[in-house]
This record gives sequence, structure tokens and C-alpha cells, in this order.
Amino acid sequence: MTTTPDVRAVSADIALSLDPQAAPILRNARPDIDEQPMSRAQRILVGVFVFVPMLALLAAIPFFWGWGLSWHDIIIGAVFYWVSGLGITVGYHRHFTHSSFKAKGWLRVVMAIAGSMALEGPVITWVSDHRRHHKYSDKEGDPHSPWRYGNDAKALAKGLLWAHMLWLFDPNQTSQEKFAPDLLADSKLRKVDDWFPAYVAVTLLGPALIGGLWGMSWHGAITAFFWAGLVRVTLLHHVTWSINSICHTWGDKDWAARDRSTNVGWLAIASFGESWHNLHHVDPTCARHGALKGQIDQSARVIWAFEKLGWAYDVRWPNEARLNGKLSPEATRRLGSMTVRNEKAAKAANPADRTAA
Ligand SMILES: [Zn+2]
Ligand SMILES: [Zn+2]
Repeated sequence: MTTTPDVRAVSADIALSLDPQAAPILRNARPDIDEQPMSRAQRILVGVFVFVPMLALLAAIPFFWGWGLSWHDIIIGAVFYWVSGLGITVGYHRHFTHSSFKAKGWLRVVMAIAGSMALEGPVITWVSDHRRHHKYSDKEGDPHSPWRYGNDAKALAKGLLWAHMLWLFDPNQTSQEKFAPDLLADSKLRKVDDWFPAYVAVTLLGPALIGGLWGMSWHGAITAFFWAGLVRVTLLHHVTWSINSICHTWGDKDWAARDRSTNVGWLAIASFGESWHNLHHVDPTCARHGALKGQIDQSARVIWAFEKLGWAYDVRWPNEARLNGKLSPEATRRLGSMTVRNEKAAKAANPADRTAA
């Protein structure tokens, strides 16, 4: 057990004892990760981390209902959640980061603005960080791997906190020149990027304005600002961050990924399909992440609608020929709708194949 190929075959614990410094790299060099199931303590930890703040928020609703929260706030909040969330998933992520479809110029601007309204940073910064994540996924260099401190419960607790939000405070900034030269070269997009503070104002003050006019009262403006502005942004932040923390920690492994990405069904609706993260790491440019039957993916449906309207084109739908060999033995489902079924159809639908991306 002295050469690298042998090390790949041994358990992570043995690899750790061989060389603690090299361990993170060795762990991730294994092609099919045979993870030990998470311990009960680890699962409880993740649960506390994610659910307690959300439950506290839900518990507050009956208290506020009638005087500090109304249907107006819920409806305005839902619309802003939907627009800014899809701005991230369809725009920032699937279009700008991974080019899973091409889009008309005006739609690119709209998507970049909608994504900016999620308050997850300007588009070029977001894309640069996320491309770095894919390049080094769960290895050294990944900006937000939950495994950066190791495998045991204490290291994972620290790692989850890092992957979920502490990484945002990392003073090391991803180089935009290196990771997003295509976006830097787009003058319209740079303009959207520069105007980020304006979208911060719109996404927070917009709900207040609408709530105030709808209820014709200052009270309506204030409650809409709180619920549809602040609470909605917080909720979307946590859902987005959960993709980095939870969807690299536990869930289903339908696909044979080389990192620790997982598919997490219960997050699918709130995350607009982004929690089918295991497929995403196996086939990053694919426009539908919930590629298997029954895996709800609202972002893919929106891209489908854009395509039907003629606003999006060259969409990289799941491709049977490309994906079938990558299904893991654990997978129980087959590829769902929107899948390109055979080689011939794949060529017709996608003449300029970008498989190399
Ligand atoms: Zn990931
Ligand atoms: Zn991605």
C-alpha cells in the first residue's frame, strides 16, 4: 500500500493515517466514493443547523398574523422569491455559469438583474466563485466544500458552517479575469454588474412600495418590507447555501460523481430544482438537473418555456447517450421528460455539441 492507486482503494481513515496533509486530495481522488453512512449525531447536527431558524420563523407567523403579517405580504414575498430565485438558478447558474442554453440579449440582461435581486452578489462575482467550485469540487481550492476540515463529526460541523455561509467572508477573492473572461468581455453585463447597488434597493424597497400602495397604508409598507423583503431574502439565501452545504453532505447518489455531491428531494421545490446537485456535478452544462423521472425542476421548466417562446435556443437537454453510462447502481429511476433519447436526435437538437465543456 505504498503507491497512489493502492491508496485510492483503502478507506478514508487509512488514507488519513498515511498522510494527514494529503488526505483531502486522496479522499477525493477516489473514482466511486464509497461513503460510510452519516452517523445519527451528524444528521441531527445538520437538522439543527437548517431547521431551527426556519421553525422559529414559522412559529412567529401565527403571532404576527392579522396585525403584522397578511396575505399581501405572503403574495408579494412569493413573487419576489420566485423572480429573484429563478434569476439565480436559470440566469446566474444555468445560463451564465454553465451555458446550458443560449439566450437573446435582452433576456440575458433581465436574468442578470433578476439574479442580482437575490442579494447573492453581482453576477460576475457569483459566476467566478461557482466556476471555481466546479473546477475543484470538494478538493483543495473549492471555495465552499463542507469537507475542507476532514471527516469526523467536529470537522464536519465546522465544514458545514463554512460551506453554508462562512466562506462568504473568505478574504481570498476568486479571480474574475481567470474564471469569467467571457462575462467581463460583455459590456452590457458589466453594466448590470456595476449597477448592483440599485438592484439591492429595488429588491428591498420594491416590496415596501407595493405593500404600501396595495394596503394604502404605512403599515402595509412596513410589513411588506419585513416579510417580502428581509425574510424572503434570508429564506432564499439559506436555500441557496444549502446546495453548497447539504447537497455536498448527505442525500441520494443517483449518479457516479467524482465528488460528494448529492440529490436532495425535499429541497427541490424551494431551490427550483437546484438540489438535484448530484446530476449537476456529473453533467454541469445540462439544462435540467432533475433529469430522472419525477424529479421536479422548475428552472428546467422555465428554460423549456423560454425555448418554446423562441427566447432561448441551443438548450442542452439531458441526453440519453451521454448520461446512461453515468447512472450509479443505486439509482432506481430512469431519465424523465425533456431527455434527448438517441444519438441521431441528439445531433439534430444540438448540432454544435459542447460535451467537452
Ligand atoms: Zn456543488
Ligand atoms: Zn454549477
